[in-house]
Amino acid sequence: MSERYADVIVDLTAMPDRVFRYRIPEKLADQICRGTCVEIPFGRGDKMTRGYVIGFGDEPGIDPAKIKEIAAVSDRGIAAESGLIRLAAWMKKTYGSSMIQALKTTLPVRERENRKTEDEIMLAVNDTMAGEILSGYQKKHFTAKERLLAALMREKRINRGEAQKRLKITLQTIRSMEGEGVISVTSSEIDRLPSVLLSPEGEQSGPAVLSDEQERARDGIIQSFRREPDKPCLLAGVTGSGKTLVYMDLSERMLAEGREVIVLIPEIALSWQIVRRFAARFGKKIAVIHSRMGKAERYDEFERVRRGEAKIVIGPRSALFTPFSNLGLIIVDEEQEGAYQSDETPRYDAREVAIKRGQIENARVLFGSATPSFDSVHRAESGIYRLFVMRERYGDAVLPDVSIVDMRKELRAGNTSMLSGALKSAIAERLERHEQTILFLNKRGYTSFISCRSCGHVIKCPHCDVSLTAHRGGRLICHYCGYEQPMVRRCPSCGSPHISGFRAGTEMAEGIVKKEFPEAEILRMDSDTTHGKEGHEKIVKAFAQHQADILIGTQMIVKGHDFPDVTLVGVLLADLSLFESDYRSGEHTYQLLVQAIGRAGRGEKKGLALIQTYRPDEPCIQAAARQDYRAFYNQEMGVRRILGYPPCGNLLAVHASGRSEEKLDRAMGFITKYLTLIDRRKQTRVIGPAPETVSKIKDYYRRVLYIKTETEETAVRIRTLLEAYIDINSGFRDVLFSYDLNR
Ligand code: ADP
Ligand code: ZN
Ligand code: ZN
Repeated sequence: MSERYADVIVDLTAMPDRVFRYRIPEKLADQICRGTCVEIPFGRGDKMTRGYVIGFGDEPGIDPAKIKEIAAVSDRGIAAESGLIRLAAWMKKTYGSSMIQALKTTLPVRERENRKTEDEIMLAVNDTMAGEILSGYQKKHFTAKERLLAALMREKRINRGEAQKRLKITLQTIRSMEGEGVISVTSSEIDRLPSVLLSPEGEQSGPAVLSDEQERARDGIIQSFRREPDKPCLLAGVTGSGKTLVYMDLSERMLAEGREVIVLIPEIALSWQIVRRFAARFGKKIAVIHSRMGKAERYDEFERVRRGEAKIVIGPRSALFTPFSNLGLIIVDEEQEGAYQSDETPRYDAREVAIKRGQIENARVLFGSATPSFDSVHRAESGIYRLFVMRERYGDAVLPDVSIVDMRKELRAGNTSMLSGALKSAIAERLERHEQTILFLNKRGYTSFISCRSCGHVIKCPHCDVSLTAHRGGRLICHYCGYEQPMVRRCPSCGSPHISGFRAGTEMAEGIVKKEFPEAEILRMDSDTTHGKEGHEKIVKAFAQHQADILIGTQMIVKGHDFPDVTLVGVLLADLSLFESDYRSGEHTYQLLVQAIGRAGRGEKKGLALIQTYRPDEPCIQAAARQDYRAFYNQEMGVRRILGYPPCGNLLAVHASGRSEEKLDRAMGFITKYLTLIDRRKQTRVIGPAPETVSKIKDYYRRVLYIKTETEETAVRIRTLLEAYIDINSGFRDVLFSYDLNR
């Protein structure tokens, strides 16, 4: 090792702002790497203290005569922390961040929160005495005291809050009796448990018997883990096939071996069902972490993990860094979800980090999805993952019938409404039969493409196979390459004047449905109606209890919920996600449609799904209607291969933003020139720069530039070179850069 000094952190809770440099003695050189726990002389008295190595250097940093030496490698190091430090080191290198930033992600400072306490009242006298005192109270007509004492003689101990509420006793009375020495009040710390752990109502609690197909998948996974422990498994199972059951079965086996489990879910609001099922089966052995949780509640859950009480943690991507010391399994549910990508530095992909943590800590990794990402299927095909498939829905549930409704024909027939004739009559039928309907508005935030209502034609970039984005001032812009053209007034394909962008929202849809079906009870679920801690769950619960006939919402309604009375799913407009200006828009649309279709007919009654679209021939819509993942995958991969998009090629995005548009454009110009300069062997293709889809946020202008490379190594090398170039040039000072590789 050429490095002779190590950076050591001592106090993990005050971490990671105080780093101390120590000399590495020759004899320990081979034993020390990032994450190693060491004994060091620390402070004035050189007290032997435990610390963790987080980095290395060639310079002592201070007077070489004064620098201290690492005394020993400690074997008392906490395995979890060591592992998470090594993980941080890997993240720093992989995603381009500082070690400190990476450490703050893997070992976040958890400030101590005040614990919640509860008071309990007990008798302080024996029964005979209590009887005498009781009659004394009766004589003096101290009715409140009498009530409490009598109750205590019966029940032995009573919670103070309960005594006040149920027995209507004031705090004064309690204090007075405590003063008389009749009762004693003790307080103890309790955990603030997430409500789902207290009442996972409506869920079966015991272990279920797996179906044959489920058993085959589970056994296959176990065998694969045994033979090739480092190889992640991918469980692709149609909606309703029982993936959650397989997860629980595997988790139980891990617990039996004394190991812990992390279950990642994209977002708690979208995954209440899986949390409730785990809660029903494992009770307080699970801890739940989520973003809408209060700080104190979160701290308590963390404490339950630290105390070794909770063995399974369920939560969003940050739950990946739970400091378990004997981690056995990481499950990533709905692995295709964008929520697994962090958008703060280090901009990590939780799936990759899960694999890395698994390697470091000898834990297995399982990905699951009804609609796995192309990326993961491609990896399975290349032998990097092992693939397991479940094709059947559990029990008698069958996949619904699916019809595609051509909205161009509706227009021709004079129907300009958002609801086709077919959908209207299907809804009416459901109302009559007292069954439920879900109406899904396929909208992912920002929709800005231009399309023709008469023929379905969409204005695309002639170079990039992504749709053009309408910008103010009437320009259409490709945000991959910067190609621009004026707004069109007539459809270039059929000449129709009915060409424009879509301005459809859930509120508007709700209004239209209300007008059409005034007698129906309607619930709406979107970001407006779901604030509050459990606002989302409330709507889901109400709908599950059949308090409404129709649920209208954006993509959050098609994920993870089981509504047994829903027999109709209407996709109001499939096209809305089809033309996001993103090369994966087809993949996303396929996933959303399959999830939406999967909501219909989860119970015994057969379901129907109607997909409204102006592009009925679009491969992803066709394939989704038939649930034919293979067909779509093969077709779409052909396109990606030709265009060099991931996973067939590598795409490095350089995002830049700045307050001065001029400086920003100049900076991007420099970068483009530099890229040509360093690419003497012509290994890359540069696309752009161009404005981002949202080209200005909070007064910051935004640009993006894409670099296509054949190998990932080339992409990483280019990013490293760019970082260095930007670092030393003052011209980039007022511009903020970030990078995304293949996401
Ligand atoms: P997925 O997660 O693959 O969509 P789920 O795990 O939600 O599937 O299963 C769908 C439904 O079928 C759930 O209500 C679940 O309780 C039920 N189910 C699946 N497998 C079994 C089984 N082996 N025994 C009993 N119920 C099952
Ligand atoms: Zn047209
Ligand atoms: Zn383009």
